[in-house]
Amino acid sequence: MYPQISLRLAIWQRNKELPRFLTQATWSWRYVIEPLDLNEAIDRIVSGIEPLPGEELVDLDTADNRVAARDVIAAVDLPPFPSSAMDGIAVAASALAGAPPFELKIVGDSRAGHPFTAAAPLAANDCIRIFTGASLPPELDCVVIQEDCEFHRDQPYARATTHVRPEPGANVRPVGHDVAAGERIISAGERLNAFSVGWLSACGETKVAVRQRPKVSIFATGDELREPGGELEPGAIFESNRILLRRMLARLPVEVADLGILPDDPAVIHDALLNAAANSDLLITSAGVSVGEADFVTDVLQRIGTLEIWRLLIKPGKPLAFGRIKDCLFFGLPGNPVSTAVTYLTVAQPALLKLCGANRAAQPEFLALLADDVQHKPGREEFQRGVLEQSGEKLIVRITGDQSSNRLASFHAANCLIRIPKAEGDLAAGTQVRVLPLGGIL
Ligand code: AMP
Ligand code: MG
Repeated sequence: MYPQISLRLAIWQRNKELPRFLTQATWSWRYVIEPLDLNEAIDRIVSGIEPLPGEELVDLDTADNRVAARDVIAAVDLPPFPSSAMDGIAVAASALAGAPPFELKIVGDSRAGHPFTAAAPLAANDCIRIFTGASLPPELDCVVIQEDCEFHRDQPYARATTHVRPEPGANVRPVGHDVAAGERIISAGERLNAFSVGWLSACGETKVAVRQRPKVSIFATGDELREPGGELEPGAIFESNRILLRRMLARLPVEVADLGILPDDPAVIHDALLNAAANSDLLITSAGVSVGEADFVTDVLQRIGTLEIWRLLIKPGKPLAFGRIKDCLFFGLPGNPVSTAVTYLTVAQPALLKLCGANRAAQPEFLALLADDVQHKPGREEFQRGVLEQSGEKLIVRITGDQSSNRLASFHAANCLIRIPKAEGDLAAGTQVRVLPLGGIL
């Protein structure tokens, strides 16, 4: 980072009555920030973020996807009693001595929710009929599955014969087999999902302490942008980055405020960012972060906050900006929709998860063989969109056509990002590459 003085001709339209040609030359000095490698940028950003401290107690039904605020310790053993894993007969392993077949007297039954109650103490050769999930009386320690039994009901009492000699504990789930009372079942910082809330339920919990949801505000910027629907005048396009961001953000435990479209007007951007930052934990804008004459976002950020990182050695998404406006974290994502999506997924999402208090989880990556030749100029790590498929024993990945950063079409049908290292040149079909399944990132 080093200081640099620059002259800039900026169109300030502070007062709408002023004619647009009234422009103002501004001297500014800013720190020139060198572009960073992706991993370095992520490490710097994530390590500089403190999780929000708040927490709340929520019903398990709404806890899915939230971040656990505390460890959860099991209050009960699961299962709470020795229970049968199969349908069959419960016996004492020690009763099956000598040569088979063994003949046992059936003195009762135990069904799930209806334990056996002994009228008299059990004799050595007594057994009970038992079904999956039912509890074993203390005298019996194993289960012979019913497929290995013959049942005789034409006697004064019912009998079972079997040739099987089970080990003690066979087909029995002992107390605490799933989890023992006092064991940690959830760790603080874990992201809860269907399985974890199911497990908490099984342990008798109805609520769980989760981290507060950060407030995330989003803006699109650009004079050419119009809300979708209706007719477009010449030069205008339908705005798509806000819905793209909203839908990606919907997968995180955050509260999203969509604050609409801002014009390429530094005065308007200035006021809007200041206001939004006062009410947000993290602010995301799209577009206006590059070096064009109408790219004002980084300049405004330097006036009202700090620009900490600007430009990444990645493709697409080079002009990404990261900084702060007072206590609010700020991401200026590049405007091309593919760049917006890729930089959100690779950089903004890990930062948001840290803000949510989530432990940093390794993203699943696979090695796959390229189905196509891929063009790549060394110098930036590239994320192409691909379709990952199993082909016999191999994983094959093919690219989704033209990879220009304006083409959201390249995301359509894609199920992964292909990660092409910075130093590589063109890659021939058959080359092994690393791929990030989108299902794992989203
Ligand atoms: P910029 O980063 O402002 O140079 O924008 C790069 C490209 O992305 C331009 O072609 C813009 O028209 C396009 N773009 C910017 N923002 C959006 C948006 N919200 N929705 C769709 N396209 C956008
Ligand atoms: Mg623009």
